[in-house]
Amino acid sequence: MGKKVNQTHITLTQGDITQQHVSAITNAANSRLAGGGGVDGAIHRAGGPAIMTECDQIRQERGGCPTGQAVITTGGDLYADYVIHTVGPVWEGGKSSEPELLASCYRQSLKLAVENGIKTIAFPSISTGVYGYPMEKAAVVAIEAVTLFLKENERFSEVRFVLFNADDLKQYQRLFLSNQPKI
Ligand code: ADP
Repeated sequence: MGKKVNQTHITLTQGDITQQHVSAITNAANSRLAGGGGVDGAIHRAGGPAIMTECDQIRQERGGCPTGQAVITTGGDLYADYVIHTVGPVWEGGKSSEPELLASCYRQSLKLAVENGIKTIAFPSISTGVYGYPMEKAAVVAIEAVTLFLKENERFSEVRFVLFNADDLKQYQRLFLSNQPKI
């Protein structure tokens, strides 16, 4: 299932983001770029040590990556040429700018992708694991942020949402089928 915004296909798939054949995959990182569990751990395991070496360098130069921002490294041993590391907000009930910060993650990642000539990019569901952002709320923000960006930017051929389990995929599919979010 998918939809098209200008020239870009937005697609949904269930799977492991480390196995995606796209130019860039996005990592749900932490602000120290220190690796960890979840999708972050999976990407560093599959991509090998080169990615962490680059993350270490970014941390030394800039102190890490603030919430809502993104940084880019190469993809190490992954099929993807690049990994874009973005730091999602920790869910604190929804009144601490979580939606704005989460939307910013998608926007800043896409912006970095444009700057690096990337035409195909895959996103996991940022913040919905350890960071506790409710899946149904995060999906609305993710789809809306990506759609708005693509309306103003025609350089991508595909933006892929990679959902780790069947329930998360269904959540995205429901949003694609309904008129929500208003975009
Ligand atoms: P965060 O700290 O931003 O919440 P997590 O890695 O804990 O990040 O979880 C984010 C989402 O990524 C969750 O929905 C989780 O199910 C999913 N996830 C975990 N591993 C993978 C993977 N290998 N590929 C795609 N998604 C994954």
